Amino acid sequence: MADQSFVTLATNDSYVKGALVLGSSLQQHRTTRKLTALITPQVSDIMRRILEKVFDEVILVNVLDSVDSAHLALMKRPELGVTLTKLHCWELTQFSKCVFMDADTMVLSNIDELFEREELSAAPDPGWPDCFNSGVFVYQPSIETYNQLLQFAAEKGSFDGADQGLLNTFFSSWATTDMSKHLPFIYNLSSTSVYSYLPAFKASDCNGCSRLLSPELWTSLRKDLSWLFGANTKVVHFLGSTKPWNYTYDSRTKSIKGNMDDPKVVHPEFLNLWWDTYTANVLPLLEHHGIVKETTTGVNMAEVTEAMSHISVSEPSPVLPTVSSEERKERWEQGQADYMGVDSFDNIKKKLDTYLQ
Ligand code: UDP
Ligand code: MN
Repeated sequence: MADQSFVTLATNDSYVKGALVLGSSLQQHRTTRKLTALITPQVSDIMRRILEKVFDEVILVNVLDSVDSAHLALMKRPELGVTLTKLHCWELTQFSKCVFMDADTMVLSNIDELFEREELSAAPDPGWPDCFNSGVFVYQPSIETYNQLLQFAAEKGSFDGADQGLLNTFFSSWATTDMSKHLPFIYNLSSTSVYSYLPAFKASDCNGCSRLLSPELWTSLRKDLSWLFGANTKVVHFLGSTKPWNYTYDSRTKSIKGNMDDPKVVHPEFLNLWWDTYTANVLPLLEHHGIVKETTTGVNMAEVTEAMSHISVSEPSPVLPTVSSEERKERWEQGQADYMGVDSFDNIKKKLDTYLQ
């Protein structure tokens, strides 16, 4: 299957870390297809060389920026402009068919069956299911399509200023015609949308809940939860502004550090999977290239943090407290600061950073 490839994109070293986790997760699940990474000149030489260890092809492309900065500003996601660079994937005509995957996705099982689908196959967007999410899609490289997309982008812009709006307008029949082009949600499961389906209680509180719910309902709820986190999920997508590499991870306790108001921290199953893959497969590559120090005792958190500091990392969005600021002020004045939680150094720093931006 040398003429078919998974394709991803990284325009900076932070997203390269995501691409490396994605690439190694595809290898781990024994894909028979090629792995291709598109990068832009901002990616450092060393990270490019590391990408070449995991990907069969690493191809340098130009940044295609959206001129539509007003729309992006409205979405408060100015960084999404670069996602138009994705369009370069249509130029890979050495392949007859490709599956594009965002660098913030990872696979939990083999998904080579996606190559049986036709252009443009994609899963519904969790926020607006009449649109497809452009984090995972099956397509057919073609210079003609690439030129049409560019022309379309120049003439019509994109309703969200990014690739998802453009691709949805261009492939507008997706919503209403061929259902075989609708990929099941498990091929692009947004890690945050899972949390909105999860009941807002922790596993330890579940005994109480099982008394309140009928046994049948409780059994079916448990089945749904294990289904979501279990073998049926094929692709996890960490969409949103806080990416897995923005969290701090302690490999000794195998846990993510962060605010307990963040659903990804309360239910860190997918984040942990990302970090497990990063620690097992990506960190050794970084160590080998001298980005992190090699140790005989394995990787510890200091090294993970050191690895992060060598690579440009975008700041996670500020975490908002649940108690009112008046209440917090009172508690603080009474010496009851929540040093490990909302009042942690990290959160205070994040808050200060928002004023400095
Ligand atoms: N991307 C990139 N650099 C950026 C922003 C995005 O390389 O600064 C690429 C990367 O492959 C990423 C994709 O474009 O996964 C889409 O952006 P993102 O995943 O951040 O958007 P979301 O899925 O959160 O809407
Ligand atoms: Mn994404």
